[in-house]
Amino acid sequence: MRIAVCPGSFDPVTNGHLDIFARASGIFDQIVVAVFHNPNKKPLFTMEERVEMLRLTTAHIPNVRVDCFSGLVYEYVRRQNSTIIVRGLRALSDFEYEFQRALLIKKIDPRMETVFMMTTADYSFVSSTGVKELARFGGDITGLVPAAVAKKITERLNQD
Ligand code: ADP
Repeated sequence: MRIAVCPGSFDPVTNGHLDIFARASGIFDQIVVAVFHNPNKKPLFTMEERVEMLRLTTAHIPNVRVDCFSGLVYEYVRRQNSTIIVRGLRALSDFEYEFQRALLIKKIDPRMETVFMMTTADYSFVSSTGVKELARFGGDITGLVPAAVAKKITERLNQD
């Protein structure tokens, strides 16, 4: 069975992420969407909240499983009995970071393959950061994130 891991912050999940999961689920037997604890980022949502939103919004894709981890990504991937990391690519700006990261992982564990999926044109400009910024200033985020996620963002921002 070909298992692929989609690691990310997913703070929160966007329609851009969901598009990648849906497309990857048609290529691999199982997709593990793994929320990564990044100590460099101060998230809007807790790990548990991010996992819960992912579970809710991927429930219709049967071969997607949601999990979370901290520590080294390739060790996590190995624990999932996988050697495949799926990442989405938007602009050239994503490339630089992803290129370095993929090569570094390959250097440490040559069995690891990072597979890149090109964004859909409709979502090429969608990022969790952008959505949060837009929402913070009262912008309309309909169509960029699922309705349930939009509601959570609005609730959280209104709390502050
Ligand atoms: P990270 O902090 O690890 O970059 P993100 O949650 O920002 O986590 O993104 C997770 C993955 O999803 C990354 O590979 C990112 O490039 C990809 N991604 C994010 N938004 C989009 C999008 N709109 N289209 C395609 N891929 C995307």
